[in-house]
Amino acid sequence: MVCKKNDELILDIEDLGIDGEGIGKIGGYTLFVKDTLIGDRVRAKVMKTKKNYGYAKLLEIIKPSDWRIEPVCLVARQCGGCQLQHCIYEKQLEWKRKKVEDCLIRIGGIKDIKVCSVIGMDNPYYYRNKAQFPVRNDKNGNIVIGFFAGRTHNIIPFKQCFIQHPCSSNILNTVIKYMQDNNISAYDEISHTGIVRHIIIRTAYITGEIMVCLVINADKLPESDKLVQTLIEHNKDLNIKSICININKENTNVILGARTDVLYGFHFITDYIGQIKYYISMQSFYQINHEQTEKLYEKVLEFADLKGSETVWDMYCGIGTISLFLAQKAAKVYGVEIVPQAVEDAKRNAILNNMDNTEFFVGAAEEVVPLQYEKSGKSLKVDVVTLDPPRKGCDEKLLNTVVNMQPEKIVYVSCDPATLARDLKYLTEKGYKVEKVQPYDMFCQTIHVECVVLMSRAEK
Ligand code: SAH
Repeated sequence: MVCKKNDELILDIEDLGIDGEGIGKIGGYTLFVKDTLIGDRVRAKVMKTKKNYGYAKLLEIIKPSDWRIEPVCLVARQCGGCQLQHCIYEKQLEWKRKKVEDCLIRIGGIKDIKVCSVIGMDNPYYYRNKAQFPVRNDKNGNIVIGFFAGRTHNIIPFKQCFIQHPCSSNILNTVIKYMQDNNISAYDEISHTGIVRHIIIRTAYITGEIMVCLVINADKLPESDKLVQTLIEHNKDLNIKSICININKENTNVILGARTDVLYGFHFITDYIGQIKYYISMQSFYQINHEQTEKLYEKVLEFADLKGSETVWDMYCGIGTISLFLAQKAAKVYGVEIVPQAVEDAKRNAILNNMDNTEFFVGAAEEVVPLQYEKSGKSLKVDVVTLDPPRKGCDEKLLNTVVNMQPEKIVYVSCDPATLARDLKYLTEKGYKVEKVQPYDMFCQTIHVECVVLMSRAEK
């Protein structure tokens, strides 16, 4: 072994790994160094060694990379939410394109495809429409609201976040005031006591409507009318349309519990994507970057290339966002989604937009779709399938049924290039060809990247 734990070394960073960590070599041995960039010369301390690679901690930047800039956020490094804020934006986009390409080649075995340049934002800040802030007590018993520091449960108090909607600060200060004035306790994960666990703020980009939700470790929020009063009184310039509580009494890291109760206003907020109006309730998924989502859905529509007579199946449809976008141009769209509240939203959204050519199924796509396929006597008509799974990608049972349904086109929307590549490998082995890969920078300043992929049926 060329190095051992606690060694201090000088390293030149030559590459970035899948999680954005710098990669340097010492005598052919690979070391990963977080918070470094290609072109940095650094002094680093070896923390952990394995047979073929190890991890080192950045001690000093001896010569900074040309990619390096000063992050706008003072706590960017500790927070860990924005892993790439210290990198020039254009280079972030270049790296994301390469990350997608590497995954497609290495995991997907797809070599003959050009991954398009990542479509970025003009202003890659303040883009998130949803924030989830943990609420805890600090060592002195004061309430702190903020973000968990990277890979820990220590809270970095929130002052200003450069990727969140700017309304968060005032709302959080108001909730702290309500908690202090009314002696409402913050949650303690070790003893599983205390009341307020998380504050979730959702904003609608077009309408400006805001939803505030307190996740609580109790059946009821004490003095809840005071919360409503304080929030409304101290945020007169904001369009708060919904204040709710979500009950989560489980000893878990999962943020939301099953039940949400409305304290004020509606159980949803309203937003538009393109011409389509959507109701979004607390428990439903909604893309976090509105500007990029609009571009991405347009691309889905372009890839689907609908003429009006097609039948579409939209898997993992959430509140029916892509389903309704496609229903503008298709004969019939079926949506499948596991969260019942999201399906309720989807059905309501179809009515809201006067679209009677949609139908939604609640359940796991890998169960619902094979069942519908069997029920139809294995002759379910479909022209286009859209897949938009969570990070873990699609279940093979679903992919298998999709292949049997023989759509002419599959449009895959993915937030994880590694699972995307795995699923594309499966589909290419079953007769589909990857035609186009268009990445979007949906999560600017972070290591994440969204992709839209068009596949067509090669064997007829
Ligand atoms: N297409 C939607 C939602 C994409 S997010 C949009 O663009 O807004 C992925 C969605 O898949 C979430 O709504 C999640 O609840 C849902 N989901 C997760 N696992 C699922 C499964 N096994 N079957 C169906 N839906 C699932």
